Amino acid sequence: MKQIVIVGGGAGGLELATRLGDSLGRKRLAEITLIDANRTHLWKPLLHEVASGSLDTGHEALSYRAHSSEHHYYFRMGQMVGLDKTNQTLTLAPLLDHHGKEILGERLVHYDYLVMATGARSNDFGLSSVREHCHTLDSAQEAEDFHLTFLNRFMQFSEAANQHALTNHHDQTPPEPVRVAIVGAGATGVELAAELCNAVERLEKFGIKAIHPSSLQVTIIEATDRILPALPESLAAKAEQVLKEHGVDIRTQTMIKDVQAQQLITADQTLQADLLVWAAGVKAPKFLSELGLPTNRIHQIEIDANLQVKGESAIFAIGDCASLIQGAGEQARPVPSLAQAAHQMAATCATNLQALIDGQPLTSFLYHDHGSLLSLSRFQTFGSVLDELFKKNWMLEGKIAHWAYASLYRQHQMTLHGLGRMVWILLAAFIERRVKPKLKLY
Ligand SMILES: Cc1cc2nc3c(=O)[nH]c(=O)nc-3n(C[C@H](O)[C@H](O)[C@H](O)COP(=O)(O)OP(=O)(O)OC[C@H]3O[C@@H](n4cnc5c(N)ncnc54)[C@H](O)[C@@H]3O)c2cc1C
Repeated sequence: MKQIVIVGGGAGGLELATRLGDSLGRKRLAEITLIDANRTHLWKPLLHEVASGSLDTGHEALSYRAHSSEHHYYFRMGQMVGLDKTNQTLTLAPLLDHHGKEILGERLVHYDYLVMATGARSNDFGLSSVREHCHTLDSAQEAEDFHLTFLNRFMQFSEAANQHALTNHHDQTPPEPVRVAIVGAGATGVELAAELCNAVERLEKFGIKAIHPSSLQVTIIEATDRILPALPESLAAKAEQVLKEHGVDIRTQTMIKDVQAQQLITADQTLQADLLVWAAGVKAPKFLSELGLPTNRIHQIEIDANLQVKGESAIFAIGDCASLIQGAGEQARPVPSLAQAAHQMAATCATNLQALIDGQPLTSFLYHDHGSLLSLSRFQTFGSVLDELFKKNWMLEGKIAHWAYASLYRQHQMTLHGLGRMVWILLAAFIERRVKPKLKLY
């Protein structure tokens, strides 16, 4: 039986494993193995909500092991570190427990077909101090880490404000706000800023003393001349207006030259903040460019229209770790690093692997941009949706936009669970919204 191995169980890889497990795996036409460095999957576009506490990973995370048993694929936990194309094996690093003790030694995994779906991380643009001093939102652990630090900072703020009020009865000066600086005004940075403003308003309602919306000062720093450079200008203008209404300080055309503890350094100033978040651009994991596969300057694996790695008929790559240019001449554009692209690539990759097993010709991938939606927490959701039928862009706002935004995640869940389970998931989410606090406070 052919061995199909998928490395990375994210937006693209997990959907692919599910599709292949439900088709080839169930009929025992191929053995499907999914490898991921973690035990659970959380859809990455939810991470800014985890960071602000609007979403609890405990509720949303999916166990690979449980899911694999229901969808006829095999799950192996491990981090891929090497590839031997000649012997068609990949290497997994030794697996350590939470005390750093080795549970499993280095392992070799054989494949007949390999799919790389390891995603990407935020791009530090070669500034080595970024990882040391800034929070990033590249995984659920990182988002949770930011959330706890954010809560702790507000606990300190509240205590200090109370002490100040007790000892200085006549001094009405408000205490210094908690300062969060976010580098990068793409969708992640902008949505996070809005979520943090919302979180502080909620903290106030939860009775954490002396907290007020003005207790938080969010600054967004962007190198280009406007926020949301990848989205239409009209959307960016609307988002800017909403953020400014909530006191967010937006600094465009500002390039960060260096990062130190609680400091962002530009060409002519030093910006101080209690918490630094780095959300600027994406870069694939460096080890990808050490595997003997063709990669671009941000370590993404170069693939052709069939999603096969250039020059490799047995290796595919999908999602953020893959680089595919579509269109010719002035129309040539890279497929964007987005969940909707990973979702579409997973579907075409499943079709092509099935075709290889059946000895049929492969299908070319064509990315369909369904539009851009932006959720500024509970303050506003808006965006444009492309109507394929009438070839028209519809501008959406309010509840309809919110529904369209949420539907991207629902589409992912639908691929993973099917219609029957989806109904229960929606019902559970509805009940949870009524019985749980609106902010995770731990
Ligand atoms: C905060 C945030 C908000 C976003 N919002 C949106 C949005 O609104 N709309 C949108 O379309 N996109 C959004 N994106 C982008 C979207 O999340 C990504 O494009 C998408 O997740 C890419 O899917 P993927 O399968 O390529 O990789 P990922 O979803 O990143 O999954 C990669 C997987 O590979 C695993 N992995 C990595 N390296 C290894 C290794 N060496 N060995 C084993 N496993 C490994 C990881 O554990 C992970 O599970 C957002 C991203 C972020 C961070």
